[in-house]
Amino acid sequence: MPQQTDIEIARDAKKAPIVEIGQRLGIGAEDMIPYGHDKAKVRQGFIQDLNGRENGKLILVTAVSPTPAGEGKTTTTVGLGDGLNRIGKQAMICIREASLGPNFGMKGGAAGGGFAQIVPMEDMNLHFTGDFHAITSAHALLSAMIDNHIYWGNAEDIDTRRVVWRRVVDMNDRALRQITTSLGGVSNGFPRETGFDITVASEVMAILCLARDLDDLETRLGRIIVAYRRDKSPVYARDIKAQGAMAVLLKDALQPNLVQTLEQNPAFVHGGPFANIAHGCNSVMATTTALKLADYVVTEAGFGADLGAEKFMDIKCRKAGLEPAAVVIVATIRALKMNGGVAKEALTQEDVAAVERGCANLGRHIENVKSFGVPVVVAINHFVADTDVEVAAVQSYSEGHGVEAIVSRHWAEGGAGAETLAQKVAELADSGAAHFAPLYPDEMPLFEKIVTVAKRIYRADEVLADAKIRNQLKEWEAAGYGNLPVCMAKTQYSFSTDPNLRGAPTGHSVPLREVRLSAGAGFVVAICGEIMTMPGLPRHPAAESIHLNDKGDIEGLF
Ligand code: ADP
Ligand code: MG
Repeated sequence: MPQQTDIEIARDAKKAPIVEIGQRLGIGAEDMIPYGHDKAKVRQGFIQDLNGRENGKLILVTAVSPTPAGEGKTTTTVGLGDGLNRIGKQAMICIREASLGPNFGMKGGAAGGGFAQIVPMEDMNLHFTGDFHAITSAHALLSAMIDNHIYWGNAEDIDTRRVVWRRVVDMNDRALRQITTSLGGVSNGFPRETGFDITVASEVMAILCLARDLDDLETRLGRIIVAYRRDKSPVYARDIKAQGAMAVLLKDALQPNLVQTLEQNPAFVHGGPFANIAHGCNSVMATTTALKLADYVVTEAGFGADLGAEKFMDIKCRKAGLEPAAVVIVATIRALKMNGGVAKEALTQEDVAAVERGCANLGRHIENVKSFGVPVVVAINHFVADTDVEVAAVQSYSEGHGVEAIVSRHWAEGGAGAETLAQKVAELADSGAAHFAPLYPDEMPLFEKIVTVAKRIYRADEVLADAKIRNQLKEWEAAGYGNLPVCMAKTQYSFSTDPNLRGAPTGHSVPLREVRLSAGAGFVVAICGEIMTMPGLPRHPAAESIHLNDKGDIEGLF
């Protein structure tokens, strides 16, 4: 068991020069763009040349409905990648980049934990290779060009009350949620209400993560709807000629970032869209490139499987033509207990009955994932407080559902602790058992898509939506957006829209509060519940204790 904190373990890592890690994947030094000694971007031209190669097997790591602390999807993704390499498989990891803002609030790092981490973790959780800054800049350029367009005569006839493009910054700052811009007189433009979101909520982020190449990136940027006219027709980013300059700002950010695990195995850490109003997985560029370079690619989708895995399948895989070969559902004893009705304070006490009750949640996620036609294995991410009887309860429940549940100790032991899981995952992925199909066809009407997810994945009885929302969806269908997938935004703590309804609820209703069109990213967001796109800081933010020590090392980050 680790005696050190995550950051201490990460700091002690014996890193190989990043060029060496790349060369092991067959990337020549000339095709890497190093950012220091331990990070490198992979050149666009090299990526294009990989096109003819065969793909490796794609493995998705997802989870049961989690506790607020997180159940270790990233940690398991990293541990499994290391485990696969340890048993002689050639494997790569793909995960998201971290959002800067939340690190100064209360969230832990995004690079895994214990002995299953990606390094350099400080960089990864801070500025990294500057991708998020580039996204913030590209977003800001579009914001500035919109107000500038209005200022210089508003040739596109933008209704200033209907500018839907907000501003972004990568910081938790509730003061910016709702603001008035252009105050101060004639030379500052036309005052209007708007607000800031955090960078990861930017549509530019979602676009970067779904783009196949630079051309596709630019086309998608041009398709962003920035405002509406008085006749309610949309004004696109291309109408104000912003997409070219935005693509220029993003050209480096589109190239995946190569880093390594504590065990010197390769990982792409690239992109990081919100998991509620966007699809919550790393970039298509990183995943498709990794599939050309490695035999097995382990990746993660945000939140529990009802949200993360569903969007991974219905948005990312559908759009990028990917086919997952196996899915790992991470379960923790503490999350199952919470799903079994135990309060947060009592989660470390043995309670087999609660674990058994909570297994209903796991069972439903298993059924759901299987319904996409992909074989499943459960990884019990082992915590020190877990007891053997509790673990055995999960194993026998899973067996009853025709799925193996394997205890994995990667957090405490690194890849060695994940070897059994790795064996099973490789076996499943190689079995050819996967016959992936998304949940609904492109042609299905938008509202029906939302109902399909609500009924088949959340097991709700109905979706409640007033006429205004239904009409909006019909208007988008008439405008040619009917073939887009839906991006569900709801709480990750329950299958329902009530975070307190744990376990495996049935018979609930899903109230659809709002729909938004992300025309550039290519999905319709269905908002079911409170969604926060600009977080705030807690009373005592982590930032109060983050500092540099005498040696210049970062303290207090995690
Ligand atoms: P997720 O990706 O599901 O949000 P993470 O992998 O980021 O979860 O893990 C959340 C937190 O839990 C991290 O701080 C990580 O270090 C910690 N963690 C993960 N697995 C374990 C474990 N088996 N024992 C103790 N802590 C763990
Ligand atoms: Mg994670």
